[in-house]
Amino acid sequence: MKNLRKKFIASAVMLGCAFFAVGAAAALSEKNNSAAIPAAITSFKEDLPVIILDAGHGGFDGGCTSAEGVPEKGINLNILLRLRDILTVSGYNVQVTRDTDRSIHDDGIEGIAKQKSSDMDNRLALFNSSSNAVCISIHQNQFTDPIYHGAQMFYSSSNKRSEALAQSLQSQFRKLQPDNSREIKLCGKELFLCYFSENPTVMVECGFLSNPEEAALLNTEDYQEKVALTIFSGINDFIQNKNNR
Ligand SMILES: [Zn+2]
Repeated sequence: MKNLRKKFIASAVMLGCAFFAVGAAAALSEKNNSAAIPAAITSFKEDLPVIILDAGHGGFDGGCTSAEGVPEKGINLNILLRLRDILTVSGYNVQVTRDTDRSIHDDGIEGIAKQKSSDMDNRLALFNSSSNAVCISIHQNQFTDPIYHGAQMFYSSSNKRSEALAQSLQSQFRKLQPDNSREIKLCGKELFLCYFSENPTVMVECGFLSNPEEAALLNTEDYQEKVALTIFSGINDFIQNKNNR
């Protein structure tokens, strides 16, 4: 586990933004979205999984950054806060790894590498804290060529239901992004949280901050709201489908 963590950190340093970022806390939107939100099915409410949300990066770790200098961490957090509200009013029990701009490493740990390792361990501990959970990690993507855009889902192989969750989410993103033809992808060990989660888990790469048009969209409250609703629909469809229980 420790060696894997070291490997993860090394990979993350090489790959930059895809795995590390930081979050700037943002005020919750006052918009009331409840009219557009389908309620979670109540007939099996007692069996509803807890929804565990992770806003990638935070604190000293900003993740990737747009050409305009906007870090991924704050966009991830804004989307998480909106998604949490939508899920909560729909009847789901929601837990989050962070709701402010911070790393969640244990107190008293010195040094960025050790703090990052502790932070990731704590996120994973929350993902694995329930045997009946659906876990979502929210990130933004980056690539050297700015032409690439569109959301892509990465899923864990450790729980066989992760693939169906990823398909459900990717299908919803095709409604938001009609020209998105991306396929879901199995995550490797470098995506530590996704790989080692024992519940159905998807890392949602909402879009590319390296694409100027998409980065500008992702930095608006309106589009963040749409992304949150898209992720909600993907989660809700997955849970309501009897085949996924
Ligand atoms: Zn990231």
